[in-house]
Amino acid sequence: MNELKDRIDYAKSLDCVHCGLCLNSCPTYRLSGAEPSSPRGRIHLMRSVAEGALEPDARMKEEFDFCLLCRHCESVCPSGVKFGQLMEGARDGAERAMPRTGFARVARELGFGVLLRSRTALRAFTALGRLAQVSGATAWTAKLLGTHGQMLVDAPSLPPARDRQRPAALTRATGTRVGAVAFLEGCVMTELFARVNAAAIRTLAYAGFDVHVPLRHMCCGSLHAHNGELTGARELARETIALFDALVDEHGQPLPVIVDSAGCGSHMKEYGHLLADDLAWSARAAAFARRVYDWTEWLVREPARSVLQPALAAQAARHRDTTVTWDDPCHLCHGQGIRSQPRLLISWLGAPHAPLRDAESCCGSAGIYSLVRPEDSKAVLAPKLEALQETGAQVLLTANPGCHLQWESGVKRTGQSVRVLHLAEAIDNSLRGQAL
Ligand code: SF4
Ligand code: SF4
Repeated sequence: MNELKDRIDYAKSLDCVHCGLCLNSCPTYRLSGAEPSSPRGRIHLMRSVAEGALEPDARMKEEFDFCLLCRHCESVCPSGVKFGQLMEGARDGAERAMPRTGFARVARELGFGVLLRSRTALRAFTALGRLAQVSGATAWTAKLLGTHGQMLVDAPSLPPARDRQRPAALTRATGTRVGAVAFLEGCVMTELFARVNAAAIRTLAYAGFDVHVPLRHMCCGSLHAHNGELTGARELARETIALFDALVDEHGQPLPVIVDSAGCGSHMKEYGHLLADDLAWSARAAAFARRVYDWTEWLVREPARSVLQPALAAQAARHRDTTVTWDDPCHLCHGQGIRSQPRLLISWLGAPHAPLRDAESCCGSAGIYSLVRPEDSKAVLAPKLEALQETGAQVLLTANPGCHLQWESGVKRTGQSVRVLHLAEAIDNSLRGQAL
């Protein structure tokens, strides 16, 4: 059990002064009303283990698992508690101290050890999954797996091969060239949202950037870090830094790294913390983290802004009859502090924007949470689906693949006539003279 005790950042846990201001922003506390399911309760559990006052047990692990790692508690905490970092460490310790068994263990080893480590394996798995979905094999496999089969039923529809095309290693600026950027392709983005990557790359090229994609790159490690696999997360962080550092501009300077998946960008901006104890990599990781930009924050800055704003203004009349709403992905607003930039881009579109009530609360996607805890995930989304209905929007905009899938399935389940788009798709459609 010492493995959990050793991995809890006791000094960080002392930042919590038990004020309770975080409680009502916590989606799991809102669901259960129980103190151990709140940020303050979870920190208390960690601190008690670190002080030797409490032995870790299955109930404690369940409270760690129940947390969405949405980091809403961080945004409202007056003491600056770094809850995300605390929980990642605690989960890593809990996985070592109380390893999973049976199906959960096999699924984790397949996911974190094989599929998220090899592009070939992931692409083959997606192709097989697609085949199983269209042939109906998913249904009987789910039956064979019993309770574990629900994961297959809840899994997102996989697109056909033509919609899973990888990006080019280099896309040239389409207008006047103003510079070059590197772009993170991501692991699941290509399998599920290749169209979003394509749209994000086109907008960057439109704004005057050559876009370089290191095709040997696989995964930034965010899913590993969020799920208690910090060793794997650190290995993937080193691989990511090495591959992106090799992409340099005409002056030999490493390129800015643009990311269109909020979860990945948030994680990569914390590489300095992740590798802080690695003497060979810590300084390099911190320097890398400083050049990571979410796609939205890069486009509202100069020089992109001067190109995009007038180009979008020229198309604005086209979108006057399409009401849009924006849901803040947790890892964009709480993880990266990015709130105004996507709203500014939306204002450039010219479409009426109906604000979503409680837009900063979690949608319940949370990486693999919606697959491993489907009922909790749906319960977290439920009030947000009501809020969506209140807006009367025809299009819901997001900027994270997990949120995108979660909203699509929720909208379908409740029969709402709302399309879900990544903001990059909306901007790209507009720049190409199309409806949103
Ligand atoms: S708001 Fe911050 S200091 Fe207050 S209880 Fe929550 S985590 Fe602790
Ligand atoms: S990360 Fe989210 S779910 Fe977890 S304790 Fe904080 S607010 Fe609650």
